[in-house]
Amino acid sequence: MIKFGPSGTDVAFAAAGLSHTVEVPAFVKANGLDIFEYSFSRGVRLSRETAEKIGDAFRSEGVGISVHAPYFINFAGEDPVKLRATFGYLFSSLDALTYLGGDRAVFHPGSPLGAPRREAMTRLIASMNDFMDEFYAAGYDDRYVCAETMGKINQLGDLDEVIEIVNIADNILPCIDFGHLNARTYGSLKGKDDYRAVLDKLIDGVGEEKVRKMHVHFSKIEYGKGGEIRHLTFEDEVYGPDFEPLAELLVEYRLEPWILSESAGTQSADAKTMKNLYFKHANNK
Ligand SMILES: [Zn+2]
Repeated sequence: MIKFGPSGTDVAFAAAGLSHTVEVPAFVKANGLDIFEYSFSRGVRLSRETAEKIGDAFRSEGVGISVHAPYFINFAGEDPVKLRATFGYLFSSLDALTYLGGDRAVFHPGSPLGAPRREAMTRLIASMNDFMDEFYAAGYDDRYVCAETMGKINQLGDLDEVIEIVNIADNILPCIDFGHLNARTYGSLKGKDDYRAVLDKLIDGVGEEKVRKMHVHFSKIEYGKGGEIRHLTFEDEVYGPDFEPLAELLVEYRLEPWILSESAGTQSADAKTMKNLYFKHANNK
């Protein structure tokens, strides 16, 4: 089943007088949505006890949960101490995910930090291979790590790089952030053909099964010379991308991704707009 929801709590959540993550699943459900992404952007600071309490609330409402691993992750780094920390950030995200009752952890692959791009990618692939060996040895094989396409040009994670990373192991899924892809290509996602090119390349690169259940981030994003500048809301009419052409293709290709809105403050409303657009086209079939 395709699923839609907000990434992080938004303005509507606060306006409803809500503040704790335990209250999120009922809010998500009341808004006609299915999933929520919990962000550990600045570190995994959630006790097992609290995570299990949150997990119980999500289970009882039938709302799905994914996590976003800390932003400090860099699988392309050279420093062995920092690389060990990178492994730790993703493993502690996976542990929290277990207590929360989910099975998807999104991560930003890394950055060359001034090194030649291909050299950095070679290091990233080798480190990611080591990580996945530990992942399987530790018995995480009922969970997925999702490698995200990045919005800034100097970050690793264009579509080709994400394909290369996803092919390292069965338990790596693509997290296609269409706003990021659009931003790093200065607005290339205009119509159905542009989205079709992305989906076809991805299917060709990683196979249908991983694309069918892929992870998706979607928001409109302002961009400049270096790519991503800032996340916008669906009110934006300048930068895009628009969701509707993608909605048509998700129906046509019978894809069932988890789709999270990363709009700036309007995540639940914009997730609902995407869900409505998807079902408008699904019901026309
Ligand atoms: Zn991200």
